[in-house]
Amino acid sequence: MPTTCTASARPVVAVVGAGPAGLMAAEVLASGGASVDVYDAMPSAGRKLLMAGRGGLNITHAEPDEDFRSRYGARQSEIAPLLDAFGPAALREWVHKLGVTTFVGSSGRVFPTDMKAAPLLRAWLQRLRAAGVRFHVRHRCCGWMRTGDGTLQLAFSTAQGEQRLQVQAVVLALGGGSWARLGSDGKWFALLEQAGIELAPLRPANCGFEAAWSQHLRERFAGQPIKAVSASLLDANGVEHRRRGEFMLTATGVEGGLIYALSAVLRDTIEATGSATLNLDLLPEHDAARVLAEVGRARGARSLASHLQSRLHLKGAKVALLRECLAADAFADPARLAAGIKALPLRLLATRPLDEAISSAGGVCFAALDERLMLKKLPGVFCAGEMLDWEAPTGGYLLTACLASGHAAGRGVRAWLRN
Ligand SMILES: Cc1cc2nc3c(=O)[nH]c(=O)nc-3n(C[C@H](O)[C@H](O)[C@H](O)COP(=O)(O)OP(=O)(O)OC[C@H]3O[C@@H](n4cnc5c(N)ncnc54)[C@H](O)[C@@H]3O)c2cc1C
Repeated sequence: MPTTCTASARPVVAVVGAGPAGLMAAEVLASGGASVDVYDAMPSAGRKLLMAGRGGLNITHAEPDEDFRSRYGARQSEIAPLLDAFGPAALREWVHKLGVTTFVGSSGRVFPTDMKAAPLLRAWLQRLRAAGVRFHVRHRCCGWMRTGDGTLQLAFSTAQGEQRLQVQAVVLALGGGSWARLGSDGKWFALLEQAGIELAPLRPANCGFEAAWSQHLRERFAGQPIKAVSASLLDANGVEHRRRGEFMLTATGVEGGLIYALSAVLRDTIEATGSATLNLDLLPEHDAARVLAEVGRARGARSLASHLQSRLHLKGAKVALLRECLAADAFADPARLAAGIKALPLRLLATRPLDEAISSAGGVCFAALDERLMLKKLPGVFCAGEMLDWEAPTGGYLLTACLASGHAAGRGVRAWLRN
């Protein structure tokens, strides 16, 4: 590893973090003629990207630009310029140039044809190496400082002890705070906090939630899906959020696509009020009058369970959830039972821990960065990826913003070095 910045005509730039954001910054820098070294604390690059590929790598989304931008909620005005320069269309083209074909799923989500991350990462690393980018794994960045003459110096902890490196600029792309075993452990937070950088606390996003399940539900129904339901809740401003989809009962509560889609508003409501109540429509295909008519129909000697199953196809985990969330005496009252089936109050008490979440909210505030993504208080230090303070639902929006911000940080370093 280089220990000093030699008197070369090429600027020496370090990228710390070999996830999608860091690798994209390295690519932009190398193509601009910089001498680029990428450092990562883990034994190999892109571990979270590989994990993302396990369930089908959703790289971006094909919906209209305006809808796409709206997915970044309160941060859409900060993310929009990044997408202007490297948005979903540019990203797809970039993937194709790596020799990976893509397709648009029925929901508009974009995937590599083979759904995997490994071939894409392999081709990308090969292309970066061919462009002269050097990789240094098992190098944990543990700080940075300015020497007396103003040179930027990075400190790494390695198996050989601490190593120091002088660079002209560095891109920090250290990830969020979830799935620490893949490298993104959020330990950078304390380093930046000490440096006086404006940060928002890291919080779980696209996460599961806890509910006070009975032992019966926990033991008999954990792991079972609740399919084809609709869920709604009111946020603190009285705005209704409604989504259709499915989720899973877990031993501690709920998780899965429908829950992730509402997770930011659920989390914020719990933080503000101590709990959040999701109203579940267990039969969104049936209107309330139909449900009431079927529930109220004479059932003779048949049990209520077989009546609900034969008249409304309600059974298994859905009925267990109904029994869990509705008062026992409501089952004797067709009007209350029918109302419960159409708007079942599911009370959620807490998010699951940050480390289990798909992504994190919070991180380096945009106010701490200039338009090139350089820290205003630390000239020459740029930030990109999930460590920035934005969040988005699943659907390819996470990777798109990570890659777009890596692209912007790479361009930002180039512009800064030119000046
Ligand atoms: C199970 C799962 C599935 C997902 N699926 C999708 C999906 O389909 N679509 C999508 O858009 N997103 C998905 N995501 C989210 C996506 O993978 C992340 O948002 C993305 O990888 C973040 O990129 P990043 O480059 O910012 O950080 P990361 O990919 O987390 O990379 C950060 C890197 O920094 C390194 N690092 C951290 N600290 C240091 C240090 N001090 N010194 C040196 N190196 C350090 C880490 O080892 C790591 O390699 C998924 C996430 C998970 C967990």
